[in-house]
Amino acid sequence: MAFGKLTLIVGPMYSGKTTELLNFAEIYEIGRKNILLFKPRIDERYSKEHIVTHKLFKVVATPVASGEEILKHYQDFGKRVDAVFVDEVHFFEPSICKVLKEITQRGTDVYCAGLDMNYLWQPFETTALLLALADEVIKKKAVCELCGEYKATLSFKKESNGNIFDVGGKEKYIAVCKDCYNKVCNH
Ligand SMILES: [Zn+2]
Repeated sequence: MAFGKLTLIVGPMYSGKTTELLNFAEIYEIGRKNILLFKPRIDERYSKEHIVTHKLFKVVATPVASGEEILKHYQDFGKRVDAVFVDEVHFFEPSICKVLKEITQRGTDVYCAGLDMNYLWQPFETTALLLALADEVIKKKAVCELCGEYKATLSFKKESNGNIFDVGGKEKYIAVCKDCYNKVCNH
């Protein structure tokens, strides 16, 4: 049995990380493989039924609070799991890394998507650890909300409140490039 591969998709808000994650999920679906999709229980931006729609392909993401919960679902599945997908991985505790590594050692591919940096331009610990462990890293960019260039790598919080795990959309966060980040932080 070969070890599974760990793929990490990172970038700022609105850089299409979830779309990229679901593109990979769709490839496994087309191949009639068994997949499990997870998201942190904290994220309630989408429907309560936890269905993520991607083009014509609908998938159910199971909300979980920890890596241990993911491992439990994985072990209870009963059949071989070909791939595990984790969205918004930065919200999980760093202990999730050990679990995801173990899942790859059992021959399952793992795909994670998440923010690499918080709105203070600092790495999220869990994502930073996964970047070290990953076999493949896909770093996405967004369009800078301020200058319109396709080079945004940072998420800027319009009203800073010190909470780096604050869930929100356009009302709270914008994607910006480093130059614009610097301008809005020093105005
Ligand atoms: Zn800019």
